[in-house]
Amino acid sequence: MRTYLIATAIALILGSCGDTKKEEKPTLKIGQNNAQTGAPTMGTTLALSGNDMMQFDKNELMAKSGEKITLTFRHVGQLDKRVMGHNFVLLKPGTDITGFANEAAAVGESGDWIPNDGVQVIAHTQMLGGGQTDVITFDAPEPGTYDFICSFPGHSAMMRGTLTVTE
Ligand code: ZN
Repeated sequence: MRTYLIATAIALILGSCGDTKKEEKPTLKIGQNNAQTGAPTMGTTLALSGNDMMQFDKNELMAKSGEKITLTFRHVGQLDKRVMGHNFVLLKPGTDITGFANEAAAVGESGDWIPNDGVQVIAHTQMLGGGQTDVITFDAPEPGTYDFICSFPGHSAMMRGTLTVTE
């Protein structure tokens, strides 16, 4: 315990010395949960929807690395999620979309359409049917381009796009 505290102190000192970037960002404290209030949060707010035509309304999303992303995903159609289910699945770099989609179809509803316990996934919503909405919050990953898909069987061929993360 004591060693841990010392190590933490050193890390803090080193961290503050090494940081020459602009002003420091305020740190979010654990336990300070504003998730239910709907209060404005710092970071990026993204909105995406899917429809009964098996389409996302956007195929390009943007964010800045390290920012908190709040994504609101909406199914604006009317069809049931067993017929026209949609989700948002942000994949880690190097993930083969076709392979992932096949595995997602195999795990199906019982696995929330996310294979391999989500090891290839940065963030994802629930599978939604018409009229449903899900909101997720996650940290924007390091700069790069990331694929997102709907992992409902057969949908990733049309329902895919990229999240571009900049510095
Ligand atoms: Zn879909």
